[in-house]
Amino acid sequence: MRLEFSAEDEAFRAEVREFVRTHLSPRLKRKAELGLRLERADYVEWYTHLYERGWITPSWPKEAGGPGWTPLQRYIFDEETLTGGAPRIIASGINMLGPVLNAFGTPEQKARYLPGIRRSETWWAQGFTEPGAGSDLASVRTTAVLDGDHFVVNGHKVWTSYAHWCEMMFALVRTDPHAKPQEGISFLLIDMKSPGVELRPIRMLEGGTDLNEVYLDNVRVPVGNLVGELNKGWSYGKYLLGHERTGIAGIGSCKQQLARAKALGKQQGLAGDPLFEARVSRFEIELMALEFTGLRMLSANQQSRVPAVEASMLKVRGTELRQAIYALLADIAGPEGIAFDQAALLDQAGHEPPSPEELIAVAANYFDARKLSIYGGTNEVQRNLISRAFFNA
Ligand SMILES: Cc1cc2nc3c(=O)[nH]c(=O)nc-3n(C[C@H](O)[C@H](O)[C@H](O)COP(=O)(O)OP(=O)(O)OC[C@H]3O[C@@H](n4cnc5c(N)ncnc54)[C@H](O)[C@@H]3O)c2cc1C
Repeated sequence: MRLEFSAEDEAFRAEVREFVRTHLSPRLKRKAELGLRLERADYVEWYTHLYERGWITPSWPKEAGGPGWTPLQRYIFDEETLTGGAPRIIASGINMLGPVLNAFGTPEQKARYLPGIRRSETWWAQGFTEPGAGSDLASVRTTAVLDGDHFVVNGHKVWTSYAHWCEMMFALVRTDPHAKPQEGISFLLIDMKSPGVELRPIRMLEGGTDLNEVYLDNVRVPVGNLVGELNKGWSYGKYLLGHERTGIAGIGSCKQQLARAKALGKQQGLAGDPLFEARVSRFEIELMALEFTGLRMLSANQQSRVPAVEASMLKVRGTELRQAIYALLADIAGPEGIAFDQAALLDQAGHEPPSPEELIAVAANYFDARKLSIYGGTNEVQRNLISRAFFNA
């Protein structure tokens, strides 16, 4: 079965593919092939090409610098960039804060913050989750108390991705402790260099430190950094999460990793092995079903974004599939993939690891993929949303 796209969409696909081929450096492409972790400078290298081409902010309105793509073109862009080996757009300023500021920010906030986001000069952390306020985000306890022309912020955020790379953080804070949980929350922009902001890295399962705790101790934030209305932050946060979840199915990433698994299987002598081939075929079928579902939703809804419950369905299936493909990669690597810390593979004399280069990151990638069913709203919570929509329909 083959998917049919319009001639216009096929031309767009060819344009994106050619752009990736001619602009992505072999160094970055190789990192993607090997599943190696990327640094901020790696992302900025690729984002600068996208910025210059006018493609860095696919989810922004055209008048704010977005490319004016249809949802289907955004889908094609994601697929072609990822399967071509380019880094994903992970910057929260681009994916999350930008749409919120475009919709609810003051002219001063837009003028001050949006250009730095588009040029990848200013990186933003998402300061929503706290100990005791993850799935139940309305329980945020970080407080912001008005003191003259500043808020004074006290609290503790956790699981804050890439905060150590970020100059700024957008945060949900409690500004009315007496209101109902969802009604006393505001949306604040906090300078990470302010006195009283302290970061503590969280060591992850695969050894990385992309995540952080952020402690806020009497941090003074100008009132001009309040987004929208006081105590209305919950609705801006929900608007933002809708943007976060769309695209989180990662169909492009599934394709990228399945292609990697096939190449690795061949390299490890598994081509023609009936069990291996059957497993790959099953994933191909499941991926095709997921892709058809995603496209069906997009075509029913060409002009607007994927609605929330469908986004939840895609998130659950897409992340489960990605985790299963990473498990396949780990199985292909077998014992050679066990020592995922490269240094552990060096012998006493410091010789090169005996495993092929292609296997070095496989175990780390497997462990790292555990997060897929947690962030952006856990899969259990997504299932609740799906069942509620089903029974209320
Ligand atoms: C890699 C990674 C990056 C992240 N980046 C950020 C970030 O940049 N900024 C940010 O603010 N947050 C971030 N998060 C936090 C993420 O949004 C939360 O981890 C997530 O919302 C779950 O919250 P929690 O960790 O507090 O778990 P909890 O909400 O305590 O959940 C614990 C368990 O209980 C289950 N559970 C909870 N409620 C229900 C329910 N009603 N029904 C059924 N099961 C339920 C959950 O599914 C889970 O299995 C990140 C998380 C990860 C793993």
